Amino acid sequence: MDIDRQRLGEHSPCLLLNEISQGDSSIFSSATAPFLDKPLPFRVLPVPARCAAGAAPYLPGSDRSGAAALRTSAPDGDGDSAAEPPPGALGTSTGSGGLDPAEVLCCYGDAASAAAALRQLNSTVQYVPYCGALSPRSALQLVRQYDVVADCSDNVPTRYLVNDACVLAGKPLVSGSALRLEGQLVVYNYQGGPCYRCLFPKPPPPETVTNCADGGVLGVVPGIVGCIQALEVLKIVSGMGSSFSRFMLMFDAQEGRFRNIRLRPKRPDCAVCGDNPSVTCLQDYEAFCGSSATDKCRTLHLLSSKDRISVEEYKKLLDEQIPHVLLDVRPQVEVDICRLEHAVHIPLSKLEEKDEEYLKYLEKRICEEKQRTDGQTSFPVYVVCKLGNDSQKAVRILQELPDKAFGPVLARDIKGGLMSWASRIDPTFPQY
Ligand SMILES: [Zn+2]
Repeated sequence: MDIDRQRLGEHSPCLLLNEISQGDSSIFSSATAPFLDKPLPFRVLPVPARCAAGAAPYLPGSDRSGAAALRTSAPDGDGDSAAEPPPGALGTSTGSGGLDPAEVLCCYGDAASAAAALRQLNSTVQYVPYCGALSPRSALQLVRQYDVVADCSDNVPTRYLVNDACVLAGKPLVSGSALRLEGQLVVYNYQGGPCYRCLFPKPPPPETVTNCADGGVLGVVPGIVGCIQALEVLKIVSGMGSSFSRFMLMFDAQEGRFRNIRLRPKRPDCAVCGDNPSVTCLQDYEAFCGSSATDKCRTLHLLSSKDRISVEEYKKLLDEQIPHVLLDVRPQVEVDICRLEHAVHIPLSKLEEKDEEYLKYLEKRICEEKQRTDGQTSFPVYVVCKLGNDSQKAVRILQELPDKAFGPVLARDIKGGLMSWASRIDPTFPQY
């Protein structure tokens, strides 16, 4: 089947997806070849490993040039034991193809399994998995070896780290993100456009950031953003330019709407890409952002240890039938998945709004439980959520409620939330 440029332009998403199902990866090379006015190979660095899945089927393979066409690498941001890329992997030759299998196979964890899965999708791409989280120590050396970087990470410190590394190395950064039913895409540091720091000079307070582990994401949404990201990578490496170095693409899956928002230009006073940059080498981004650089569950530390108990401690007081109220602050949709039967449910959003109806309901339940006690002064209220972050926010709200009708309460949160309960106390409790 011969795909000409016009047909590809008109129908490329359908055509390419159809061809994938037929398992004929060579078609991608011939389909993409007319667009490539830049000699192969080129190299793309996706961060973290998983995001490469969206792009790999669309990348041109090695059969056209007779050399390794593309080196897709996968730093693993999910905290494998190895903190740095494996010895030798950074220095692996790309242009003439042929990785030493030992170097590729020495990695385990997400990056290695992602690379194995990607080879099944498109075996003509060279994949180099890097284990361990991308760190300020390794990032610049790594980024320098690639033509384009694709950032799909899910935490603020990694976004600043990748941005600064790209600016210092002079590489374009194709940045995609998704949460719940919304996605965004921007190309930073490309042809005089702004960088991530130009738009976001200061990191947001950690407790205001919601990531996918906490907020959830509908899998199709990152799939759509990932495909557009792959498209922008191909446009950049083929010399066609990018549509999103001065616009941000916003995708609303609920409304089925794509919108382009014009970005402010590059800031002359930007700390990393401005006229007099103060950031001239990579820093400690976890300290800068006040949060950890992980795509998994972020851990907030809003409360002191006296305001928190472990799931084991909670199980003990449950077994001893000590009077208390357990307050579950998850959204209704999560409560519908699983719950502890005796929990009182009030979503965090209703506590934040100080919703009177819900507060009255809480008051009623506390008063009911209090009658079982001998009038202790501070009645215990334990707060639980999925992971132990929202519960800390809820405890703070309860502590600050003025003139509580239900009298003084001793509010504490359950560390690690219901997922900790599921893994350490009750293995039959669903994990989601
Ligand atoms: Zn900048």
